[in-house]
Amino acid sequence: MQIANLGFPRIGRQRELKFAQEKYWRGEITKAELKLVAAELRKTHWEWQAQAGVSLLPVGDFAFYDQVLTLSATLNAIPERHRNEGAESNKVDLDTLFRVARGRAPSGKDAPAGEMTKYFNTNYHYIVPELTADQEFSLAYEQFFEEVSEAQSLGYAAKPVLLGPVSYLFLSKAVGSEFDKLSLLPKLINTYAALLARFSDQGVDWVQLEEPILALELDSDWQSAITSTYEALKETQVNVLLASYYGTIAHHQALVSALPVAGLHLDLVTAPEQLAVFAENLQPQQVLSLGVINGRNVWAADIDLIAERISSVVNDLQGRVWIAPSCSLLHSPVDLDVEAKLTPELKQQLSFAKQKLSELTQLKALLSTPADSAEKGLIDTTIASCVARRNARDAAADRQVIERVAALNSDDYERDTAFANRQTIQQQKYQLPLLPTTTIGSFPQTPAIRGLRSRWRKGEITEDFYNDQLRQVTKDTVDRQLKLGIDVLVHGEAERNDMVEYFGEQLQGFAFTQFGWVQSYGSRCVKPPLIFGDVSRPVAMTVEWAEFAQSLTEKPVKGMLTGPVTILHWSFAREDISREQIATQIGLAIRDEVVDLQNAGIGIIQIDEPAFREGLPLKKSDWEAYLKWAVDAFKLSAAGVTDETQIHTHMCYSEFNETIAAIAAMDADVITIETSRSRMELLTAFEDFEYPNEIGPGVYDIHTPNIPTVDEMVELIEKAADKIAVRQLWVNPDCGLKTRTWDEVEPALKNLVQATKVLRRRLG
Ligand code: GLN
Ligand code: ZN
Repeated sequence: MQIANLGFPRIGRQRELKFAQEKYWRGEITKAELKLVAAELRKTHWEWQAQAGVSLLPVGDFAFYDQVLTLSATLNAIPERHRNEGAESNKVDLDTLFRVARGRAPSGKDAPAGEMTKYFNTNYHYIVPELTADQEFSLAYEQFFEEVSEAQSLGYAAKPVLLGPVSYLFLSKAVGSEFDKLSLLPKLINTYAALLARFSDQGVDWVQLEEPILALELDSDWQSAITSTYEALKETQVNVLLASYYGTIAHHQALVSALPVAGLHLDLVTAPEQLAVFAENLQPQQVLSLGVINGRNVWAADIDLIAERISSVVNDLQGRVWIAPSCSLLHSPVDLDVEAKLTPELKQQLSFAKQKLSELTQLKALLSTPADSAEKGLIDTTIASCVARRNARDAAADRQVIERVAALNSDDYERDTAFANRQTIQQQKYQLPLLPTTTIGSFPQTPAIRGLRSRWRKGEITEDFYNDQLRQVTKDTVDRQLKLGIDVLVHGEAERNDMVEYFGEQLQGFAFTQFGWVQSYGSRCVKPPLIFGDVSRPVAMTVEWAEFAQSLTEKPVKGMLTGPVTILHWSFAREDISREQIATQIGLAIRDEVVDLQNAGIGIIQIDEPAFREGLPLKKSDWEAYLKWAVDAFKLSAAGVTDETQIHTHMCYSEFNETIAAIAAMDADVITIETSRSRMELLTAFEDFEYPNEIGPGVYDIHTPNIPTVDEMVELIEKAADKIAVRQLWVNPDCGLKTRTWDEVEPALKNLVQATKVLRRRLG
C-alpha cells in the first residue's frame, strides 16, 4: 500500500507566496528572489509529504497564480493580447503568465485580464483558457519540467499532476467565433502526448491526469471524448493515474472502468458508496487510489472508521492500493500547529493539510497492523469526551436551537401577505420615486479605516475611540450619499472586516483561526470561520450601527445582513449534522436580527446572498433538493417581519437562466444583481420568466476603476426596461464599493443618479 497525495497548498503557512508575488508586482523584489521563495516553499512542502510517507511527490500543484493558467502556458494557449512580442512571441515566461492574470499587454498598457471563474463547486478561482477555432498547441513553457528536475535533484520521485485534456477543454471558452470546442481535441491530445513524453524522458513513472468533469452529467460527445483521449494516450511511456474528485463518478462507471489507464483515483469522502463498484470492475493490473481523507474540510478524520470501511478492498488489492486525500489539499488551510488561540478541545478535532498527511500515515499503520481493541477504545473515548465537553458548555443554548428548529412550521417561512399587497403598502410608506437609487452596502474601506481596525485589534486604541472614529466615517458616508441624492441609503459597513467573519464573531457555534488561509484566487486568500456547534445569536449584532445611521437622516437607511446560505458556504462547516440543518439554524439567528432591526425602526433590510449559486451541486439532478433548502433558509431569515418592512437581497453573479424560478421563490421584495459586465445579457433569463418582484440590475461595474458615463448607464437601464416593467426596476451598482476609492465612487454615483434623472423624465 502506498500513501499518495493529489496536491498540496502552495501559499505557505504564513502566506509567503502571496507576499512575495505582490512584492514582485510592485517591483520591490526581483524575479530571481520571487523564484527563490517559491523553491523554498516547494522544498518544505515536499519534505512534509515525504516525511509522512508519500511515495510519489506531486509536482505541478505549485503555481504562481493558478495551476490552470500554468497549464495554458505550458500548452501555449495564451491569448494574443498578452503574448510576448517579436521573436519571443512563441515563448511563454512568468511575466506572460502574470500579464494574463493581471490584465496587461507586453507594452505595459491595460489589456483585459483572462476571465476568472470558480473551479467546480469550490471557492478556488481559475483563469479560464481562451481558445480560438484555429487554436494551435505546443510546449511553450518550462516550469513543469523544471520542477520535475528540481524534485528529482532533491532525491524525490516526482509525479506530475495536471488537468486532463478533456476537462481542460471543458473548462475553456471558445473565443473569436462560435465553434465546437471538441474539434480541438485531436490537436490537444497530440500536445499532451508530447508533454507526457517529456516527463517520461525525465524519468517520471506516474502522471496524474485529472478529469473532474466526470463528476458531472456529461452528454455523449463529452463521454466519447474521454474514451478517445485515453485510448490515444495509451501508448505513452508513463503510467497514467486518472483522478476524479468532488463527487461520485459511478454514473460513468462502465466508461471509466474500460479506460486503458494504469490507475484510478476516487473521491470516497463525498461518495464512499462508489468504492465497491469500481473495486469490483478494476482491471487486472490497475491501481486504485482511495481518496479517504477529506481534502476540503478541516475536521480530523475518523481513522478507525475509514480503516474499517476500506480494509477488505485493501486486503484484496494489496500492493495495488493507494490511500490519499479525496482531492488536492489546495482547499485546506496549511498547518494547524501554528494556531495558538483555539481551545484545546476544538484543536483536537481539527486537521489541516499537514495534519491530513499524518492521518494518512496513521491510517497506513492501522491498516498494516490492526491496533488492538483496547487501544482503539481509548482513542474513541477521548474524541467522544471532547465532543461532550463542548456540548456541556453551551448545552442550554444548543438545546434551545434544536427545539426551535424542531418546532418550525410552514408559516414561519412565509411573509404575511403576497408581494403585490406588500408592494402597495411599502410604496405608501416610503414614497420612493420611479427607478429608486441605492447601493449594495459597503463604501470604500480606506487605509485609514483598516489601520484603525488593526490598531484596535492590537489593543493600541480603546474600543470607545475605535467606535467613535467609525461613527464619524459612517456619518461622512451618509452625508456623501445625501449630497449625491441617492434614495435608499446604507451605513457603509466601515465596522466590518468581512461580511461573514463579522457575523460569525458574534454568533454562538463559530470559531476563528489565526492562519487558516485558503487560496481563493491569485494572491488572494480567505480565512473561513469554523462552524463547530449549534448556531444561535446571543445579542443583537448590527442594530446599534443601523440605528445610528438612521438617526442621521429622514431618508431610509438599509439594515445590512449576510444571509444564512452565504454564511454557511463561506465557512468550514461541521459534518455531524446536515448542511440544511446548519442553514436553518443560521436562518433563525439572522431572523432574530431582522426582527430586532425592524423593531428598532429600520424599515428596509438587505440580506445578502452572494454565495447562493456556488452551493449548487455538480449534478443537475441534485439541484432541486439544494435549491429547496437554500431558498427555505433565506425565507426563514426574512419572513419574521410585517408587510411594511421591505426585504432586499443581493447576489453578485449573473447566471440566472437556470435558477431564476428559485430566486423568485425567495420572495425578497427587491433583489440587486450583477449585470453590467455582461451588458445585461443576463436579462435574457427574464424573457421567458416574468420575475414577479422588484429588481436592480447593476449598472456600474465596481470591479474596475473605470467611471461609467451617464450615457452608458442610461443605455443599460433602457436595456433592462425592455425586459422588465419600469415600476419594478431599481438603479444601483453591481456590488459593494468596499474595494474602490472615493475618487472613483463619487463621480460614478453622481453619473448614476444623473442617468436615473434622465430616464425618469423619459420613461415616467
Ligand atoms: N453588502 C455587501 C457589500 O456591499 C455585499 C458584498 C457582496 O455581495 N459580496 O460589501
Ligand atoms: Zn455583490
